[in-house]
Amino acid sequence: MTEPRLTYTLESCTHCLHCMKICPVEAIHLEDGIVKIDPVQCIDCGICVAGCPKGGLTVEKIPLEKTLSSYDYKVALVPGSFFAQFASLEEAGQMLKAIQSLGFDEVVDYSDIEGALYLEGICRMEVADQLCITSFCPSINALIEKNYPMLFEHLLDLEYPCEVAARQVRARLEGKYPRIGIYSLCDCLAKMALAKAPFGNQASAIDHAVAISQIFPAANRQKGKACFPVTLNREGLMSNVSDFYHYAKKKKPIIAVDGVNHCIQALEAAEFGALDKIGLLALFACQGGCIGGSYLWSNPFIGEVHMEKLSYLAGKHVAALSQTEMSGHRELAMDKTSMPLKMQRYRSVNEVLEKLPRFDCGACGYPNCRALAGAIVDGKAGLHLCRVRKEE
Ligand code: SF4
Ligand code: SF4
Ligand code: SF4
Repeated sequence: MTEPRLTYTLESCTHCLHCMKICPVEAIHLEDGIVKIDPVQCIDCGICVAGCPKGGLTVEKIPLEKTLSSYDYKVALVPGSFFAQFASLEEAGQMLKAIQSLGFDEVVDYSDIEGALYLEGICRMEVADQLCITSFCPSINALIEKNYPMLFEHLLDLEYPCEVAARQVRARLEGKYPRIGIYSLCDCLAKMALAKAPFGNQASAIDHAVAISQIFPAANRQKGKACFPVTLNREGLMSNVSDFYHYAKKKKPIIAVDGVNHCIQALEAAEFGALDKIGLLALFACQGGCIGGSYLWSNPFIGEVHMEKLSYLAGKHVAALSQTEMSGHRELAMDKTSMPLKMQRYRSVNEVLEKLPRFDCGACGYPNCRALAGAIVDGKAGLHLCRVRKEE
């Protein structure tokens, strides 16, 4: 069963329904005066959390100190997007040192793994005979899996960098410490959800996902002159910025798209075959790429400037990863038997939609008629909820 990732607080909610209107996949509706989020439809984009004017939607924070005390060796994994917050390697190194002082034994920058996967995606695109879609964004992958199953075969089978990093760290430390705690510092809600319900059916090597915004205030207070040496990998940094895909050395055209609604437009175009002459479609749910993740504290425009500057200073090689380390997981993720069911559901929703007025007024508590039709097909609602239809 899919667990809800978001917490709704009725006391904070003014029933403005802004969250329902802005959810890009119609996962929110109003039922008996309460905002309900369908965890099956939700792609963890975080748009509703950021958009609620009253803080009515939140994500559970982990009790960091309590969990840290339950391990003998604690490792914090830091994504490349984290460095978008800093104008210099020295400043970034000071923050890494400060994060370690919160109770970690080791802080690992895995931009070299991000770089290896980014380059592998471009290599595979060059030899493919069809449009390739690459996304290290769990929201986008969930979107494709749930709403665009016909495009699944275009999605490059590349593992999430944080998972590869966690497996490497665990393999290195296994046997040396009885209890190893691996914490993935996350730039967005989708990566938090990833650690709870990893894409595919393999168990995640990550023990805890922590929002960068959760630890930032405490780390910032600890920050001093003490500094880790930071080298970073250039390609890994580039993989976090949608605009930087255009700098990639490639023979075929690449389109990089940011923002969930823009990605939906691109996926619809791909579904109709309009992008068949494109080599690679690189998709990011957040504005500007992962540097626009809502758990980072700098805006993506400044972040892009920082990333460009840091990429010229970066001196770390890409990680040497085997094909097994890089892929093989997404094939497992796609349950082939679910495709006919998804197509059947799609047809059933269209049949129910024929019975609805298609005014998309929202009076039923669902964002539009299609959303209500979907809920009816899933057995969660009835035709009687449509107020317009009753009056006809
Ligand atoms: S946006 Fe916030 S206040 Fe408005 S309905 Fe949603 S949860 Fe309630
Ligand atoms: S996280 Fe995104 S997909 Fe999920 S309910 Fe909120 S807006 Fe919708
Ligand atoms: S027309 Fe009916 S089904 Fe469509 S949004 Fe309005 S109340 Fe809901």
